[in-house]
Amino acid sequence: MNIHEYQAKELLKGYGVRIQEGIVADTPEAALEAAKKLNAETGTSWYVIKAQIHAGGRGKGKVKETDSNGVVLAKKLEDVPEKAKNILGGTLVTIQTGAEGKKVNKILVAEDVYYPGASEPKEYYLSILLDRAKGSNVIMASTEGGMDIEEVAEKHPEKIIKEWVDPKIGLQGFQARKVAFKLGLEGNAFKEMVKFITSLYNAYIGSDASQFEINPVLKTSDDKILAVDAKVNLDDNALYRHKDLADLRDLAEEDPLEVEAGKSGLNYVKLDGNVGCMVNGAGLAMATMDMIKLSGGEPANFLDVGGGANATTVEAGFRIILQDPNVKAILINVFGGIVRCDRIANGVVEAYKSIGNIPVPIIVRLQGTNAEEGARIIDESGLKVSSAITLKEAAEKVRAAIS
Ligand code: GDP
Ligand code: MN
Repeated sequence: MNIHEYQAKELLKGYGVRIQEGIVADTPEAALEAAKKLNAETGTSWYVIKAQIHAGGRGKGKVKETDSNGVVLAKKLEDVPEKAKNILGGTLVTIQTGAEGKKVNKILVAEDVYYPGASEPKEYYLSILLDRAKGSNVIMASTEGGMDIEEVAEKHPEKIIKEWVDPKIGLQGFQARKVAFKLGLEGNAFKEMVKFITSLYNAYIGSDASQFEINPVLKTSDDKILAVDAKVNLDDNALYRHKDLADLRDLAEEDPLEVEAGKSGLNYVKLDGNVGCMVNGAGLAMATMDMIKLSGGEPANFLDVGGGANATTVEAGFRIILQDPNVKAILINVFGGIVRCDRIANGVVEAYKSIGNIPVPIIVRLQGTNAEEGARIIDESGLKVSSAITLKEAAEKVRAAIS
């Protein structure tokens, strides 16, 4: 699960990670109040207004309606409401949102932390994530902060520092010092970075996160180290242990069909193709998507209805798949192991009748216990549904349906 920057910063602060302070707002008036409050609390007189969406690249991104960037600086309190207005309610397009962009419902009004001083402010990159191959956590850091890290990894892999942390032992002091040293820091900035990395790692473990990306981490002109940005990805499977974090979920940021599917206990991911599919089991779903491609189609979705395929889950699946206007045919591919094929077939017929007129052909491939009986029920239903038993047969029927 992803959370917003303002929520992520709050989470980090709770673990003692220094952050660029800010206050979230959803109207220009609230933004002005937020700026006044920040001025009183931090003394800042410049303000950064940051669109809150679940995507990066906001600084360089543009709001379609106003041409404003997704992150802007206001050098006067009076400018805050106008600049906030140009972002709020708009559609922000960044390299990560795709051309359709994302609607901005909230902004973060933050203190300016790039103020002049004894030294130039300097941006770094820091992330913590899971290295599945090594079975450990890895801290990645770079002096090339603020930039697209994938580009750094490609062009200058030597500029990426990696420090693996054994989850059974935890982060050791020397490891945090090693990273800070390799980043070329000294004096107070070095100490601050060690503290930053240590508290960040504690936050990562404490929140059962699967990924933290802080880009940029800033060394201010007076040698403080703080998080200017924060992308936090939490492990869905651990959310039951973190009620407070689970509540941070913003459904407006997620695909509406995926949200609806989740409510019916279906595992659905929308794709761009023309053949909808409904399958029991993730492995079979993968194989089915391959098969759709082989038959000349493109999968319109991934949909796993789980072990107990019945009329209710099939109907929910139909309704979700049919909301996608690209769908030209639907393939149901179910293995009758736990549930018998005749029961699934009856479920399909019942779901079909309950929806009424389905405008696209449906191919139902049932294999396993009572497969023949299932096929007979489908074929005798009198509906626009045809049966298949082998995968090859199903593929041919899909090919015929879309050509
Ligand atoms: P992203 O573009 O979505 O990754 O958003 P970030 O939070 O990383 O902000 C983008 C850029 O805004 C940063 O790389 C900075 O260059 C700039 N920025 C953020 N905070 C400040 C600030 O306090 N002062 C100034 N002058 N620039 C800032
Ligand atoms: Mn960033």
